[in-house]
Amino acid sequence: MKSYQVKVGSKVDLNKWDPDGTHSYDGDKDSAKAAFARLNQKLERFQEILYAEHKHKLLIVLQARDTGGKDSTIRRVFEHVNPQGVKVASFKVPTDEEMDHDYLWRVHKVVPGKGMISIFNRSHYEDVLVVRVHNLVPQKIWEKRYEHINHFEEMLADEGTTILKFYLHIDKDEQKKRLQARLEDPEKHWKFSLGDLDERKLWGEYTKAYETMLEKTSTGHAPWYIIPANRKWYRDLIIANILVQTLEKLDMKYPEQTDDLSNVIIE
Ligand code: ADP
Repeated sequence: MKSYQVKVGSKVDLNKWDPDGTHSYDGDKDSAKAAFARLNQKLERFQEILYAEHKHKLLIVLQARDTGGKDSTIRRVFEHVNPQGVKVASFKVPTDEEMDHDYLWRVHKVVPGKGMISIFNRSHYEDVLVVRVHNLVPQKIWEKRYEHINHFEEMLADEGTTILKFYLHIDKDEQKKRLQARLEDPEKHWKFSLGDLDERKLWGEYTKAYETMLEKTSTGHAPWYIIPANRKWYRDLIIANILVQTLEKLDMKYPEQTDDLSNVIIE
């Protein structure tokens, strides 16, 4: 399968990353769905072993523009995993208490513990995205954050956390279609925010902010993947595939039973 990983230290021009790409599936949605179902089963099993072994920690960071598909990725890719072993943390506009602290304070509290998977729906990267685009803090403050974030993630990795970061890449036309669909369906109105239209006007500024983020913070211990996300079925397939490949490499095992069970009789 094609590599969607951002190479460490490379330049990123998002125009050169095809949001429509379906690579080897070439639009073949049915085989992709079958492959996805197999990956989902593997994911279910790996997550059980991760939980049982109580050794590794997995952090998944999802970033995307509005309507980029973070919610549906979580719903679909993690459809079969045991909710006991997975926590989703959503990062909204910081509360007053969060604002009184450094920007990683609210993040560190929700990183995964042993045996757990944490999914970040938005993340500390908002502090170099929305914060940069809207000048919420001066440049001399936000430009230092790439380095802080790299150090923070390196520390998490050194302490046993596997980190995967996915940027769900859609284009402006696809966003228009998705916003339009929300507008036309009263049951989707709750997802529609007039603020999304203001953010859409800043498409170019966000592109720059995303490109810098991808260039400066894709590291060996916490790589970014740019996922073609115009087609949801392909997006899900690629993410599930990267997760399964990563979990396979952890070489996890169910814990050994220390008691001798050979003579146990249950009456
Ligand atoms: P979502 O779009 O993730 O489904 P919301 O519609 O509630 O959820 O949007 C959350 C909002 O919070 C986004 O506009 C995002 O940019 C904003 N946000 C998140 N983190 C920060 C931050 N650190 N500073 C300012 N705004 C933030």
